[in-house]
Amino acid sequence: MVNKVPFIDLTRTEPGFFEQVTHRHREIVKNCQFVGGPLIEAAEKGIAADIQVPHVISCANGTDAIQLALRAKGIGSGDIVFVPDLTFWATLEAVVNVGAEPAVIDVDPNNLHMSLEIIQKASKIKKPKAIILVHLYGWVAPETLAIRQWCKSQNIVLLEDCAQAYGAKINNESVFTGADICTISFYPAKVLGACGEAGAVTCQDENTAKIVRSLSNHGRYSHYEYQYIGWNSRMGTLEAAFVLESLPHIKARIDSRQKIIEYYRRTLNQLPMKILSPEKSVTENGYLSLFRVNQSERPKFVEYLKQKDIGHGVVYPSPLSNQPMVKDRIHKLSDVNNTLSICSEIISLPCFAYMRPEEAEYVVQAVKEFWS
Ligand SMILES: *Cc1c(COP(=O)(O)O)cnc(C)c1O
Repeated sequence: MVNKVPFIDLTRTEPGFFEQVTHRHREIVKNCQFVGGPLIEAAEKGIAADIQVPHVISCANGTDAIQLALRAKGIGSGDIVFVPDLTFWATLEAVVNVGAEPAVIDVDPNNLHMSLEIIQKASKIKKPKAIILVHLYGWVAPETLAIRQWCKSQNIVLLEDCAQAYGAKINNESVFTGADICTISFYPAKVLGACGEAGAVTCQDENTAKIVRSLSNHGRYSHYEYQYIGWNSRMGTLEAAFVLESLPHIKARIDSRQKIIEYYRRTLNQLPMKILSPEKSVTENGYLSLFRVNQSERPKFVEYLKQKDIGHGVVYPSPLSNQPMVKDRIHKLSDVNNTLSICSEIISLPCFAYMRPEEAEYVVQAVKEFWS
């Protein structure tokens, strides 16, 4: 009998998976090959083939990936960079860390992502040198193709933060394939997680790839010769081996997540709780199940889920611009009413790879009971 369901459980993996990882890890420890070498290259090649992109450069984490990508594209001191007000803190942090100035903008009330209209309006007030389009929730921003095209025509750097979007597609094509430059996080709780901190930058152009790689390795061009002031942002081989062993299973993991979300959509559609789905052109990776619950009901709903031992998430409880410490350090080019309203209503139910049907059923029964 199921009587509790966690929000996420990372220990659910394929039979034999941990043994294979342990075997690889034993070899790494035995040979003391902790940094660099063929495993890093193999992981990068494996990822590149999986998401259909020419260049993958591994790095220490998803936040560094954004900083590396911005630096490689020449974004720095005084440059204006648009970021959605609805994203993880790291998106904004990375902009500040490279010396640029974040301008937060609102998201579309229906698809929860940046829209071309909102971007164009804001850019009339202050033209950005770069825009970070964040594909949140394992979805892809539905206007991605139009935004890419417009940015190109305006000579604006478009960086796509795909930390949550590994495996997501638009028009049946990997989100990475048509993007100029993207960043990934392999934080363990992401869809493709490592056994520790790790990240990557993906790009189309070989020269950009070379700059990213050099920046992530102290700005080196040979062992003791440096062309940039970079830093140490290399991925470790233990993490690379874990990612490499995960790749053959990623499709099954995504399928499993998608099935849970589909089940929620099928069974929870008659309730006073709104089920959120990406637009038809988008294939989500199942990172998060998303619902909107009236602001006045959400605290009671959360309390109820706790009583039932059901995990939940609120991604995110407030806009970035509400954090007191950035209030005076960001440009605010529009109101962010849509973001505010999403933050006050959004909620996610448990969803992770290999969550069991009985667990999903327990969640659904409990949620139905709450609204009955
Ligand atoms: C997780 C995440 C990051 C940061 O990745 P780390 O690997 O934790 O540094 C950046 N942006 C978004 C949208 C994220 O979800």
